[in-house]
Amino acid sequence: MKTVEFVEALSTGADGEGAGQAAALFSRTFGKAPDGVWSAPGRVNLIGEHTDYNAGLCLPIALPHRTFLALGARRDGRVRLVSSLSPDSPEEASLDGLKPGGVKGWAAYPVGVAWALRQAGFDQVRGFDAAFVSCVPVGSGLSSSAAMTCSTALALDEVYGLGFGGSDQGRLTLIDAAIRSENDMAGASTGGMDQSASMRCRAGHAIELDFRPGLSALESARQVPFDLQSHGLELLVLDTRAPHRLNDGQYAARRRSCEQAAQALGVGSLRVPADQVAASDDPGRALEAVLTRLDDPTQRRRVRHVITEIGRVGRFVEAFGAGDVKRAGELFNASHDSLRDDYEVTVPELDVAVDVARSEGAYGARMTGGGFGGSIIALVDAGRSRDVASAVADEFGRRGFGRPRALAALASSPAQREG
Ligand code: ADP
Ligand code: MG
Repeated sequence: MKTVEFVEALSTGADGEGAGQAAALFSRTFGKAPDGVWSAPGRVNLIGEHTDYNAGLCLPIALPHRTFLALGARRDGRVRLVSSLSPDSPEEASLDGLKPGGVKGWAAYPVGVAWALRQAGFDQVRGFDAAFVSCVPVGSGLSSSAAMTCSTALALDEVYGLGFGGSDQGRLTLIDAAIRSENDMAGASTGGMDQSASMRCRAGHAIELDFRPGLSALESARQVPFDLQSHGLELLVLDTRAPHRLNDGQYAARRRSCEQAAQALGVGSLRVPADQVAASDDPGRALEAVLTRLDDPTQRRRVRHVITEIGRVGRFVEAFGAGDVKRAGELFNASHDSLRDDYEVTVPELDVAVDVARSEGAYGARMTGGGFGGSIIALVDAGRSRDVASAVADEFGRRGFGRPRALAALASSPAQREG
C-alpha cells in the first residue's frame, strides 16, 4: 500500500501543542516571552463552486488545522518574523514609510495586516515580533494565507487595544485588513471568502456566504449547523498535488462566458435566473427555458453548472439539516459531475480521487476550490479518512500521479486567543 501523507491538527488551548510550539519558537528566536498566542483556521468550501462571481452562494467551514502565532508588541515600527517552515531564517521589515508591495515573500502577509490597519486610521498599531507555527497545508487551496493574515489581525487587535475581535460585527474591520494585506502587500488577488470563513465560522457550523450585490457584510453571512460528529461522520480533505495546468486563461474564460450569458439573458448576474429556477414549481423545465435562450452550446453548459450549483447549496443545507446524509452526499456528487462535465474545470487527478473515494464508501465526493488541480472533499464515516486516502494514493501510484496529502476535518472554531 502506498503511504499517504496524513496531516494531523495541532491541539488548541493554552496548554495545547500549537500554543506551546509557537511560544517556544518565539522565545528561541527573540530571547523573550510573547504577549500571547492567537490562532486562525484554514478553510474548505463544502459546496457552491464558481458561484461567487455569479452573485451566488458558497458554504465554507473552518478546518481544525490552524496557524498559531505567538506575538509581542513593539514600541517602534520594526517587524521581526519567524515561521516554523523556515525556523532558522527570521525576516525583518519596517512599517515606517511602507508602500503597497514594499515587502517581499511570505513576510508580506503579516506585515501587510499592520500596514492595512494603519492605513485604515488605526495609528496606535506599531511594530511587532511574531512566531508562526502552522499545520495548514500551504498552497493546497485550504487558505494558509488567510490563516496567517487573520491570526495576525486578531493578535494586533488585542495587543494594540482596537477592540474589534470580540464581536462578529467588529471582526469585519479585521477581515478588511486581512484582505487588503493579501491584495495590496502580498499581491495575491483574493475575494474575501477565505478571510470571512477564518474569522466568522463557528465550531459545528458552516457559514453560508451570499454574494448578491447590495447586501451588507452582516446580511451576507448565515450560520448553518454542520455537526459532522453527531452524525458519526467526518470530512476527508485530500490535496491531489496535481500540477496546476494553464489555469489563468481558463478561469478568465469561465468568468467571461458567465458575463456574456447574463448579458444575453438581460440580467445583472446569473443569480437572477438561478433564483427563478429555484422558486419554480418545475425547476427542470424552468432551467430548460433559460438555456434555450442561449445559442452557444458551450455557454449553455456553463450556465447550467452555475444555476444548478447555486441551487445545490440550499438543497445541501436542507438535506444535512434534516439528517439526510445520503442526499447530502448525492449533492456533493452532482456538484463534482457538473464541474467536470459542464464547467470543465477538473483534471484527471481530481476525477480519479473522487471516483476512488466514492467506491471506498464515501457518501459523496467532489473537487473543492477553483479546479485545474487542488483538493477534493469526501463525506465519510468517522475514522475512515485515512483508509480512503490510502486507497486514493494507491490508485495515484498505479497511474503515475504524484503523492497526495490528506487530513480529516470537523467544522471548527474561528480565529481565537489561545493563551
Ligand atoms: P493557500 O492560501 O491556499 O495555502 P496561497 O498561495 O494563497 O495558498 O498562500 C500561500 C502562501 O502564504 C505561502 O506561499 C506563504 O507565502 C504564505 N504562508 C502561509 N502560511 C505560512 C506559514 N505558516 N509560514 C510562512 N508562510 C506562510
Ligand atoms: Mg490563499
